[in-house]
Amino acid sequence: MRATRAVIHLDYLRDNIALVREKTGVSLCVPVKADAYGHGALRVAKTALEAGARCLAVATVAEGQELREGGISAPILLLSVAAPEEIPRIIDAGLEALAGDAEYIDTLAKAAQKARRGLALHLKVDTGMGRIGCGPEEAGALAARIADHGLFLAGTATHLAVSDSTAKRDTAFTALQLERFKTALDGIRARGMDPGIVHAANSGAVTFHKGAWFDMVRPGILLYGYAPPDGEGKPAMPVKPLMELESRVVFIKKVKKGESVSYGRIWTAPEDTFVGTIAAGYADGIPRQLSGKWNVYVDTPGHGAPRPLVGRICMDQCMVDLGPAPAASRWDRVVVFGGPAADAGALAARIGTIPYEICCNVNKRVPRVYAG
Ligand SMILES: *Cc1c(COP(=O)(O)O)cnc(C)c1O
Repeated sequence: MRATRAVIHLDYLRDNIALVREKTGVSLCVPVKADAYGHGALRVAKTALEAGARCLAVATVAEGQELREGGISAPILLLSVAAPEEIPRIIDAGLEALAGDAEYIDTLAKAAQKARRGLALHLKVDTGMGRIGCGPEEAGALAARIADHGLFLAGTATHLAVSDSTAKRDTAFTALQLERFKTALDGIRARGMDPGIVHAANSGAVTFHKGAWFDMVRPGILLYGYAPPDGEGKPAMPVKPLMELESRVVFIKKVKKGESVSYGRIWTAPEDTFVGTIAAGYADGIPRQLSGKWNVYVDTPGHGAPRPLVGRICMDQCMVDLGPAPAASRWDRVVVFGGPAADAGALAARIGTIPYEICCNVNKRVPRVYAG
């Protein structure tokens, strides 16, 4: 196996799931879209279901099919709108689609009829995310339309835009979204219909908004180990990051004071030193913007220590300053983030992005190794 790998701690996933289930006391839907945020959809899905999750959520039909082919029989929610030509495959794979407009509902109904199969839908209400879904006042009529087609209304859902923020204007907006959602639910019930499983809460809402938990919660990033910050900037829930990106020192050389390292010559040695080359670069998921801005953990037995990346991060390699008298030796393990290094949340903050993007971008060529 390659020196570069992502170690995924499934025991932490179990712990994070237990924490969320204990806190909310409602059913759990685990988003495993984008290969489970880079952690490996099938292994995460199986572990989550064993740990008591009710269902899974994906963004594409292919992601849903992959889970079915892997032997998953639990309900799978398709969160995004599929193209018309993909719709027969939704029915084939037995996915539950989120729908929030008449045209899409009609198209789904037609395909189900053609396949002579049932189809469960979740009505998606747009309460302020501005992405997909119907207006709150349309919910009743669309629920009736779903029933008229002979489809099953399995649930009613919305998505929150700023639930992970503790700023006053953001908590007020979340409250407004929940009010609008209740209007939608009232509209469905006013027609004598059952909205099914009601769900709204992403990670931010699990953390901060009890009023958004309803029958089921859908936290993603929280289960992967990153909680939104509380008022003081500390993680608001004690979840543990699952992913550790590691590689090896594959080459060491002496670099004299004044000599440069890597493309663009953005770094020159301030003194004589030893520079190690690590077998991972931006094509593996170490953002190039991180050049010169990050300490990796060089895990020399008995002498493990954080050391700075130097010079531009290349596609397949990057360099670490090991210092003038290094204890490190060739083939030492290097942790880029997670474990003994700072986690993907800290790394993301360093370059102005979010841990979601860091984990998703760990490339397919990086083998996932499961621990715990
Ligand atoms: C991705 C997604 C989630 C999970 O979001 P997190 O911020 O990772 O908790 C929940 N619901 C929908 C509709 C999503 O697209």
